[in-house]
Amino acid sequence: MPTIDEVVAEAKLHPVEVDVPHTLSYLFLEDYVNVFHDGDVLESYLNNPSYEFNKNVVLKTQSDVGVGSQYPKLKLDHSPISPLLNNIIAEKYDRLSDHLITQRDIKSQILQRVTDETVVVLLIADGLGYDDVLGTQLEGEPCLVNGPTITPVGYQNVVYGRDNTPIIDELINRGFVQVRGYSYWDESTYNDLNSKVFENFHEVNRVRTTEEILEDLQKNPIGDDRTYIQISRQVLDRQAHDGKEIRTSDHEHEISKLNKDIGQLNEILEEQVDSHLIVVTGDHGILWRKDFEQDMQIVSTNGKSSMRYAGQQIGFDGGAKLIDAFDSTYTVFDYPYAASSFDADEAGTHGGLSYYESLVPLHFRGSRW
Ligand SMILES: [Zn+2]
Repeated sequence: MPTIDEVVAEAKLHPVEVDVPHTLSYLFLEDYVNVFHDGDVLESYLNNPSYEFNKNVVLKTQSDVGVGSQYPKLKLDHSPISPLLNNIIAEKYDRLSDHLITQRDIKSQILQRVTDETVVVLLIADGLGYDDVLGTQLEGEPCLVNGPTITPVGYQNVVYGRDNTPIIDELINRGFVQVRGYSYWDESTYNDLNSKVFENFHEVNRVRTTEEILEDLQKNPIGDDRTYIQISRQVLDRQAHDGKEIRTSDHEHEISKLNKDIGQLNEILEEQVDSHLIVVTGDHGILWRKDFEQDMQIVSTNGKSSMRYAGQQIGFDGGAKLIDAFDSTYTVFDYPYAASSFDADEAGTHGGLSYYESLVPLHFRGSRW
């Protein structure tokens, strides 16, 4: 299969029709060639004697408009869901949502899938990025985090969606009369966020491990009433900030433990109810030191920002985007900019725009999945 360079070379000779593995690839191609999405528009340009292609190139999408047959068809070899995304993520950020589900769409994606399940579980794992689960059972679909890749924004994106109504309200309206909340956050951290994320839950069980959740479900089985269960769980975020070195084996262990926990939850629900749906996602990914440090460029913000973002508009000489989220404007750094280097014992960071931080998985498991 041809690479972008090979497609561009071919397209200098004559129009080509290009099929892509993922439509995000068109955002890369358009930097080299003219991309036409509509065959009729392309034809009108080709038939217009005053329009000069001038060694520019014409490409067509895989949409099945008629012109395709007369041009050579190429299938592009390109993986845009990869660190390559770092090359366009800030510059084309506003257009990425034409090609990717965003985190604020997750709520509606869940509500569309729910039919007559007795139980729906939403598990949000703190620090779970798409790259962390790539190639595992938890892979699912990549979703773009809207805004700075920080815990409060990520959680609220998932729970509140586009219309700022917590998902629990919509599920109650659809007959989920029982609700259960489980949170790994202890009472000294993230209290405000915990209240927001679990708004309208009568009570939230503070837990430290998934075993406690599984035990609680076994002690207090779910009856016939439709039940919504929401879980906030630590996965990699704590590790990133914990001040200990992360080995690949630790990282893999965390992911396989998460997968095992979800497998056990799935088994318990299979025993207790006729049908259920488990949804797993993350608040943001982690930019691991081992992936970032060699590329990192330090910019000066005069102490006005965290390593990868500022909670306000700041001026500085580097790449960043201003993004609004939940009534605040954030300055969010592009890859590979950072306002400081890693602390000696820090394994990762997050807050900015990058393939690693800005994509989280959306994974479904259950009776029908
Ligand atoms: Zn987090």
